[in-house]
Amino acid sequence: MKKSWKRPKSAIADDNHCESLLQQLMVIFPNGDPGYFRECLQYYESDHITRVTDKIFEMGGYYPMVTTCDPVKQLNHALRILATDLFPDCEVAYLRQRLLQYNHSHLEQVSDELLNEQARLPERLEYAKISRSDMFRSETYKSQAQTQLAIDYPQAWKSSIRAVLAENNWDYLNSYDQLREIGPGGLWIALRNFVKHWIIPGTGSSSSSNAASSSSHHGAAPQTSSFDPDFMEDMEALRRRHLCAQEMTDSELARQINEDEYTKENQLITCNCCYGDFAFEQLAFCSEGEHTFCHDCITHYISEGLFGQGSLRGAARIGCISVEGCQGSFSTEMLERILTSDIWSAYQHSLFEESIVRACRSVVRCAACSYCEVDESIRPLDDTKSRLSYVLTAAQLLLMVVVAVMCFLQNSIIPMLTTLVYCYTFAQWDLQADLEIVYGRIARARRGSIFRCQNQACAEMTCLQCNRVARGLHNCLERDQDGLRLYVEKAMADAVTRTV
Ligand SMILES: [Zn+2]
Ligand SMILES: [Zn+2]
Ligand SMILES: [Zn+2]
Ligand SMILES: [Zn+2]
Repeated sequence: MKKSWKRPKSAIADDNHCESLLQQLMVIFPNGDPGYFRECLQYYESDHITRVTDKIFEMGGYYPMVTTCDPVKQLNHALRILATDLFPDCEVAYLRQRLLQYNHSHLEQVSDELLNEQARLPERLEYAKISRSDMFRSETYKSQAQTQLAIDYPQAWKSSIRAVLAENNWDYLNSYDQLREIGPGGLWIALRNFVKHWIIPGTGSSSSSNAASSSSHHGAAPQTSSFDPDFMEDMEALRRRHLCAQEMTDSELARQINEDEYTKENQLITCNCCYGDFAFEQLAFCSEGEHTFCHDCITHYISEGLFGQGSLRGAARIGCISVEGCQGSFSTEMLERILTSDIWSAYQHSLFEESIVRACRSVVRCAACSYCEVDESIRPLDDTKSRLSYVLTAAQLLLMVVVAVMCFLQNSIIPMLTTLVYCYTFAQWDLQADLEIVYGRIARARRGSIFRCQNQACAEMTCLQCNRVARGLHNCLERDQDGLRLYVEKAMADAVTRTV
C-alpha cells in the first residue's frame, strides 16, 4: 500500500489470467482480501506472484484478511469495528460513506484517512452505539424492501418510496414508519383517487394491492422462501409489532365490554385504596383474601417503593397496603401479571442486586443503569481480612512479649512506659477501616476506573470513581475544572465591567 511500490498501471489484459493469478495468491495467503490482491496485480508487468509475495514478505508478512467472501458482510464488519471501537464518537453515516470509497482493506484505509484528517469529525449523539438500521444492506434487501413498501403503501409514488428508503439507509422498518407518518395527505388522496378513477377503472387491481397490504399487516406474508435473511427478520419484527398492537386493541375492547356488563348487573367491587369501583378481573387480592386493590393502585405503590422512597428495593415480600394492619402480602405471580414490564424488570433487578450484595461484597455497578456484576479482579476482602487479622494479632502479641521480657530484664521505667504507649496506640488502631482503604486502592488499580456495562440496552462506559459516563480519555475533574474556569472567567468579566 506504500506509494514507493506503486508503478504505472499495466492492467492484465486477460480477465481469466488475472483470476488465475488471484487464485494462486489466495492459496499462498489464505483468507487474504481478493480486492487487495487484485489491486496489487495491476501494478506489475511480469512475475506477478513473485513480486506480490516479495512485497508482502517485505511488509513483515502482513496482508489484509477478510472473514467472509460476502462484500456486504465485510463492509458491515469494518463498520462495526470503526463505529464501536476505533471512532466511537464519529457519525455512523460519515463512516459508512468513507467505507464505500474503497474496494479493499476498508478498515485500514478508512482509519488512516480519518486519523490524517485535519477537520473535526462529525459527532454522534449516542457514544459507541450502532443499531441494526445503520448497517449496509445487500442489493436483494434493497429491492425486496422497495417492492414490499410499494405493496404496503399503494398510494405512495415509487420515487417517494425510493427517496424515503435512501434517507433511512434502506432500512425497511424505519422507512415503513416514516411513510406511515407522511400518511395519505391531501395530495396522496388526490393521487390515489386519480389512479383509481382514471387508470384502472373497475379492474379491481387497486383493491387487490390493498388486500396484499392488509394481508402483510395481519401477518399472512407472501412467499418468503427467496427473501433476504435480514429482510425476513425485519418483516417478522413488523409482524410482531402489528400483532402486539392488535392484541392491545382487543384487550382494551374486552375490558370495556366486561366493565359495561358488571355495571349493568351492579356487581362492581370497590378498591380498598382509591375507593373506585372496578370489575373483578381488574382487581388484585392480598394473600389473606380480605383486601382488594385495583391494578393502578398496586402499580403506583410499587413504583413509589422502587423509584421514590426506595423502601421496596430488594424486598422479597411485598406486604398488603391496607390501613387495617393486614399481615398478608401480594404473590409474585400476581405482581408479574399486573405490573408493566419495565417496573417488573426494575423490581427483579433490585432483588438480584440485593442478593448478590449479600452473597459477595465485591460488586461493581454500572452508574447508568441497574446492572451489576461480581468483581473477580481481586480476592474478596473477607478472606484476606481474616487472614491478615490473624497475622497482625500474632505479630502484636509477639512484639508485646519481647518488649515485656526486655523490660523485666533491664528493670527500667523507660521500657515499661514505652510498652504502655505502644499497647495504647495499637488498641486505638482501626485495622478493619485501614484494610478496607488499602483493599479499595488495590482493587481500583487492578480493575481500572472505567466500567463497560454488559447490559445490551445500556452498554455505556462509566467511571467507577465519579459515576459519570466516560468518553475517550476520561478525567474525573474535567467538568469541575470547566466549572471553575467558567466561574473565574465570569468573575474577571464582572470585574472589568465594574471598572469601566
Ligand atoms: Zn385503587
Ligand atoms: Zn390484606
Ligand atoms: Zn449500564
Ligand atoms: Zn471519573
